[in-house]
Amino acid sequence: MKQSPQLDLVEARMRPGAISLHGFLGKDTRPLSQILEEDHNTVNELGVTHRLIADRMEFFTEQGQKGLGTTVEVEGHFEVRVEEVRGVLPCPWPHKGLYGKLNVYLRNLELDKELTWTGLQVHLIGAHGFYEGRGSPFRIEPQEACRILEL
Ligand SMILES: [Zn+2]
Repeated sequence: MKQSPQLDLVEARMRPGAISLHGFLGKDTRPLSQILEEDHNTVNELGVTHRLIADRMEFFTEQGQKGLGTTVEVEGHFEVRVEEVRGVLPCPWPHKGLYGKLNVYLRNLELDKELTWTGLQVHLIGAHGFYEGRGSPFRIEPQEACRILEL
């Protein structure tokens, strides 16, 4: 299916140097519409929704923020730390709103696995179902995320 001109614009804003230094697509050569569709199918197969994943990430973000930069224990076997970075980023989609440049580090102690994300990524997943392109250093694999978040 051909990608809409609107999505072409969004994709252009995801290229390195437009909004962020590394961009959001990594080495992924698939059109944005295909990236979105494939991740959407994966999330469907997992029996969850983008909103559910984003809400769980938001929950850990809020818990972590209570630690003011130190590690916080959550639900007995999670450790989360939030690093607040100065500045804000806009979403690549055309709408108002700026997102804090915070970094979240979550460790699931039972799995001994870590998941990291930014404030903007919670929005990108929840509102747009976007997990970044393959090869992007900040790519979140929905399957891996669900395991670590225990969804
Ligand atoms: Zn947005």
